[in-house]
Amino acid sequence: MAKPKAPVQKNQMIELTFEDMTHEGNGVGKLDGYPVFVENTLPGEKAQVKIIKVKKNFAVGKLIELQDVHPERIDPPCDVYKLCGGCQLQHMSYTMQLNMKHKTVKDNLRKIGHIEIEPNPTIGMEDPWRYRNKVQIPVSSKNGELTTGFYKKRSHEIIDTMDRCIITSEVNDRMVEAVRKIANDLGITSYDEKSHRGMLRHIVVRSSETTDQTMIVIVTRTKDLPHKKKLIKQLTETYPNIKSIMHNVNPNRTNVIMGKETTCLWGEDYIYDTMDGIHFAISAKSFYQVNSDQTKVLYDKALEYAGLTGKETVIDAYCGIGTISLFLAKKAKHVYGVEVVPEAIEDAKKNAELNQIENADFYVGQAEDVMTQWSEGGFTPDVIVVDPPRKGCDEALLDSMIKMNPDRIVYVSCNPSTLARDLAILKEGSYQIDKVQPVDMFPQTHHVENVVLMSRENK
Ligand code: SAH
Repeated sequence: MAKPKAPVQKNQMIELTFEDMTHEGNGVGKLDGYPVFVENTLPGEKAQVKIIKVKKNFAVGKLIELQDVHPERIDPPCDVYKLCGGCQLQHMSYTMQLNMKHKTVKDNLRKIGHIEIEPNPTIGMEDPWRYRNKVQIPVSSKNGELTTGFYKKRSHEIIDTMDRCIITSEVNDRMVEAVRKIANDLGITSYDEKSHRGMLRHIVVRSSETTDQTMIVIVTRTKDLPHKKKLIKQLTETYPNIKSIMHNVNPNRTNVIMGKETTCLWGEDYIYDTMDGIHFAISAKSFYQVNSDQTKVLYDKALEYAGLTGKETVIDAYCGIGTISLFLAKKAKHVYGVEVVPEAIEDAKKNAELNQIENADFYVGQAEDVMTQWSEGGFTPDVIVVDPPRKGCDEALLDSMIKMNPDRIVYVSCNPSTLARDLAILKEGSYQIDKVQPVDMFPQTHHVENVVLMSRENK
């Protein structure tokens, strides 16, 4: 068979009408069935497009001029939206973002899991800006001055005109600026990726709105951090919200932000956040959800779907620092949390103690191994909650869940495609899907979180 030929060439200008949108928020237009993907365009719009990449089965174009404009298109409020890769949906109204995420979930369930279900409408935020409680920003320099800014899309070049990030909290923006200015005045150099020289790599800031506490993590290539005392003095004297200043050393040529070694330069090595009356101690490397308001919404849904009366035994797999476990413990007989990172389990135990919660136990291990052992040992929990990373659950874990035969499974997911794959397996194992609730944890970006309730068929 003759090799199909792409109907466009690189650098060609075409007029294109967009029919659809990818889950990443790019418009899709078709030329006799051949798809062309273009950033910053919406379904129904018509535009002049320049082809920038041609492949056998698709092409990528660049928006040159819009001709028909979608009524839900808005001016992106961020000055560096087009440069930065962080947000993808700022050019559409918030209502459109929520609808699009609903469609993403429904499409994934249908196409990947062959599951026909109408998810609930996406739960959005009242104010979908300034929601991030954590920022990790790379440091560079321009004309001898330190600059901070995210990387430009698909590159490792820093946006040096960025003075704020409007999805991160105001306090975090202010803290980044303060550290940058003080470090600059003290002559601390920025790290240069190419030559692997210089010191300051990233400034990481985490703040709690409920306790007004901030942790700053200064990530350097070198063990040495000059003028430490002055840096600490200037920061802590000016900003009483700072409760912890940590130093992380990352000597490696890597994209991973933090290295192995973390020491406390000043204050405590954790800060507190409070959610629904539960206090959480969070350390520099702990996984903690970045959108606190929506986390509460998400966990409340998980708790509602768990349907606890106080008599149930519950497993919380992939429990992190025990956030969901402790939420559930208030309404359950006993909760068993399992997580692979030992430090997170240390935090989980500390958090249980801090809140005087005595009906939660935590175990370190691969959830798939621990759950298989539990299942083989005859453990039969009433409810299982899982909240895996983007790659979803291991098959051994899905099998052991089915064998443990709980009344309900609550699946919390940050990736609709692996969710769809896993739900299909659980469905085969006689669990029906009762409810799918998308929650918008990351407004302005294409990410969507879900809580799903499943129950055993023919109880
Ligand atoms: N439920 C927690 C954390 C969810 S993030 C919260 O809401 O805060 C997913 C967690 O799964 C991370 O803490 C990660 O360390 C952990 N994890 C990843 N792979 C794992 C595995 N195979 N077994 C157990 N935990 C794992």
